[in-house]
Amino acid sequence: MKAAIYHAAHEQLSIEDVEIDEPQGFELIVRTAASGVCHSDLHFVDGFYFMPGPAVLGHEAAGVVESVGPLVTEVKPGDHVIACLSIYCGKCERCLVGETHLCGNKPVRDPDSNPGLLWEGKGVRQFAGLGSYAEKMLLHENAVVKIEKDMPLQQAALIGCGVTTGVGAALKTANVQAGSTVVVFGAGGVGLSAIQGARIAGARTIIAVDRIEHKLATARELGATHSVDASTEDAVQKVQELTGGGADYAFECVGLKVLAEQCWAAIRPGGTATVVGMIPQGEMVEIPGPEFLREKKIQGSSMGSNHFKVDMPVYIDFYKRGLLRLDEMITQTAPLSEVNDRLRAMRDGEVARSVLVFD
Ligand SMILES: [Zn+2]
Ligand SMILES: [Zn+2]
Repeated sequence: MKAAIYHAAHEQLSIEDVEIDEPQGFELIVRTAASGVCHSDLHFVDGFYFMPGPAVLGHEAAGVVESVGPLVTEVKPGDHVIACLSIYCGKCERCLVGETHLCGNKPVRDPDSNPGLLWEGKGVRQFAGLGSYAEKMLLHENAVVKIEKDMPLQQAALIGCGVTTGVGAALKTANVQAGSTVVVFGAGGVGLSAIQGARIAGARTIIAVDRIEHKLATARELGATHSVDASTEDAVQKVQELTGGGADYAFECVGLKVLAEQCWAAIRPGGTATVVGMIPQGEMVEIPGPEFLREKKIQGSSMGSNHFKVDMPVYIDFYKRGLLRLDEMITQTAPLSEVNDRLRAMRDGEVARSVLVFD
């Protein structure tokens, strides 16, 4: 099969012929139908996070089950599935208390022993246990959720990471309350999803902050009641004005230290800042200590605090009811061969989401 191989940071991915092993145990093979191009992949390509190559990036995908290992019971060939990087073991302490998204014992085949993917005789890592910039994915049963066949697979793919991350940050991690005020820093795929989550929760004021006007226009279309262009305005001051003293909830959806600090500055006493983006490795976030006396809270969010096998079908229902708008988030579709250009477009802020589509 064809796959886009990541070799090292700052290098182009190359399209190669890769061998995929037969599924063992709880594994299955999914023929990739669509894969979103998510910012987290770019963090590795741009060297903000480290991973040794060769590896297949891509972690926001939907497809069709092709074959299953002998122990798989949840899906069968022909089923449509969304893949999720929140793979869980179901046995560790975090799993047993219901925090499967924080599982520390992810059941992924070790690429150094009998690798699942082989290229030029070498094992190939699957990023996040998925590796969706490829025609097929070798996955664990606990990395997929079966979905109804009338759900379009391009839109389903977005639910695989960005949508679940953003909507879940609002609905699950922060538990946004009806009538509240919300500010979302960053109006890319995750930020637009957080905005939609806040709208679905019934927030009364939703402020989108970005530096690119066409992204702010999409944010207003998808539910932001106000938008702030941070290239010309002081975003924190503007949020303080619009909310009369700070937002109830703030979300960092880019992965920048300075925006995490602005989230903190933009919330009211007792408010909650939620950091969703991937802040580069080695960077610290600094906040003024005395403000803890005002009961301000800051927290992280991992993949929208998901229980993805439960949440993703809910998000599909939201889509079918018109509550969660995904068509507007797909800026462009492209074949796998254009993956480098699509990563560039994301880096340059041209798109909410590019989706790679497969025949
Ligand atoms: Zn992602
Ligand atoms: Zn676990």
